[in-house]
Amino acid sequence: MVINEMTQDECGAFLASASLGRLGCSLDNQPYVLPIHFVYEPDNVYVFSTFGQKTEWMRTNPKVCLEVDEITNQSEWRSVIASGRYQELSEPQYTAEREHARSLLEKHCRWWQNPLGERQLRLGNKSITPLFFRIQIDTLTGLLAIGECAQSA
Ligand SMILES: Cc1cc2nc3c(=O)[nH]c(=O)nc-3n(C[C@H](O)[C@H](O)[C@H](O)COP(=O)(O)OP(=O)(O)OC[C@H]3O[C@@H](n4cnc5c(N)ncnc54)[C@H](O)[C@@H]3O)c2cc1C
Repeated sequence: MVINEMTQDECGAFLASASLGRLGCSLDNQPYVLPIHFVYEPDNVYVFSTFGQKTEWMRTNPKVCLEVDEITNQSEWRSVIASGRYQELSEPQYTAEREHARSLLEKHCRWWQNPLGERQLRLGNKSITPLFFRIQIDTLTGLLAIGECAQSA
């Protein structure tokens, strides 16, 4: 197996083709990682969310990352990490950006169901306010593992 670094273009293309990743944030030296759906555009990742621990933490410490991977098998995989800053797309300051995020995320089937469904199930509140945020990407890194069979093919 050979592991190569991915170029910035390869990292971007991979993020553009993916929709599920792991958001990492931290507070007081405690990491917190959770699955989220997202849409990537160059320099930004857009997310639909509910209020909760992650948004409270990211408001306090906006330094976050998103990890996305595709694992074919033990020796064929790729993994990209986007590190950057949390920015809540609140109104009226970010109305245009919020609508942009909504239009991008709407293209993903049932993009709203996981966060809202989970929260409503737990809290029994049907009028939960959703929010949109983006991660402004500072750095992108990616690793690509190529198995022996794939190399010789
Ligand atoms: C496939 C998939 C896609 C998802 N997509 C989105 C999305 O696009 N946007 C979104 O906002 N949410 C999404 N979720 C749900 C998300 O992972 C969180 O569960 C949810 O957003 C609540 O996070 P919170 O920090 O607000 O939790 P809170 O409700 O504030 O958390 C309370 C406690 O619950 C625990 N907890 C919360 N979430 C999880 C979890 N996933 N697994 C284990 N323990 C947990 C935490 O440890 C915390 O202590 C998705 C989940 C899955 C499985």
